[in-house]
Amino acid sequence: MVAKFFEGLEYLPREIKDEIIRTCSGNGYHEKPNTYSLTTVLGCLRQAFYQKTLPRPPVTVQNCYAMYRGVLFDEKWTRLFRHNQVRCTYRCRSIPVTISGKYDFITSTDPPVLTDLKTREKLEELVSPIVSHIKQVRFYAYCNSIHHAQLIYVNLQTCKVFPVEVGNVQPLLDEIEERAYRLYMAFLTNTVPPVEESGLCSYCSYQTVCSKQQIEKPAPETSP
Ligand code: SF4
Repeated sequence: MVAKFFEGLEYLPREIKDEIIRTCSGNGYHEKPNTYSLTTVLGCLRQAFYQKTLPRPPVTVQNCYAMYRGVLFDEKWTRLFRHNQVRCTYRCRSIPVTISGKYDFITSTDPPVLTDLKTREKLEELVSPIVSHIKQVRFYAYCNSIHHAQLIYVNLQTCKVFPVEVGNVQPLLDEIEERAYRLYMAFLTNTVPPVEESGLCSYCSYQTVCSKQQIEKPAPETSP
């Protein structure tokens, strides 16, 4: 006989759902004026534009859960290290904007390794780190004059540790500045940045408005 059960986060007791939502609502980084978070600049600029210019979509347990898992690992593991959760900033040269981000920890090994911890539901298919994550740790390593970096992907079954070569970061800094400039101009001219389709889209709270604005875009003029 199959026992009766209810599957889904919505069936959790209200106290737990409230805790998940409360933790994630207070956990987001609130950008200061003229400061963009590194994650924002490396993510979809269109999404960043919506986040600043549209009302915040309702927060649900479902769309908080991935972040909540990350917070649990962060709270347990990053505080094991002397240098943890330290904010790094970088001032753009061409616009009055500062890029800001926080690394997870620096190991106390010799040499020290700047490390970012990422939680993943499925790790089997992950054979290389996510490109934007590589850029994040390289940026943090550069800001802290550290020459070694790594990404740790973890779930409740196992983990995968990827060493990351820091190398020459100048092209990365140029890319970050160029993307920050595009976002700055989008706000200045109130122009929605182009679509940047990626895996992020399936978790994006602005999918509906994003696809609607794509459809509404006027067709390019054809020459007579
Ligand atoms: S749906 Fe995709 S392209 Fe559109 S705003 Fe969200 S992340 Fe960007």
